[in-house]
Amino acid sequence: MKNTKHRTARTLSHEETLRQSFEKVGLKATHPRLLVLGLLQELDGHHAVDELVEVLTERGTPLPRASVYNAINVCVSHGLVMLADAGPGPALYEASGMWHHHFVCTTCGTIIDIPCLKEEKPCLLPDRVPGQVEEAQIIFRGICNECLSKNTTNTPKTVYNRRGRQKKQT
Ligand SMILES: [Zn+2]
Ligand SMILES: [Zn+2]
Repeated sequence: MKNTKHRTARTLSHEETLRQSFEKVGLKATHPRLLVLGLLQELDGHHAVDELVEVLTERGTPLPRASVYNAINVCVSHGLVMLADAGPGPALYEASGMWHHHFVCTTCGTIIDIPCLKEEKPCLLPDRVPGQVEEAQIIFRGICNECLSKNTTNTPKTVYNRRGRQKKQT
């Protein structure tokens, strides 16, 4: 039988691209791995395992929590997914492109990616190295621009008296 399949090199399907990412790192593209990495890429941003389990269920492609967790762990150890360190709370994952850091807004909780100057880990080392450093992920904490622009009453930097004049600091 003649093979009539046409290959269009520039339009790889999403699944094909996903399969290739697994192949590149020597991993089998199993069903859970494809689903999990595909979802993280599609959702963008930072997500907890429970969130992914929920979305997969909603979409009619449910996976047990343990499978999602295992798939994510394998992806993390092969550099396909990044464990985003954003402080306390559930572990957050994201489809990793380049190694980066995070800014966490202490007002709204938004997590914003901060590019890493070296783009690979570990990008910085302590003065005295107590062992082999594998990564350094920095959390920048503060108030995001959006919160800054909509709220100036929360934590005023300068104290004003009732007449709106600046109080003298003695
Ligand atoms: Zn904010
Ligand atoms: Zn990130």
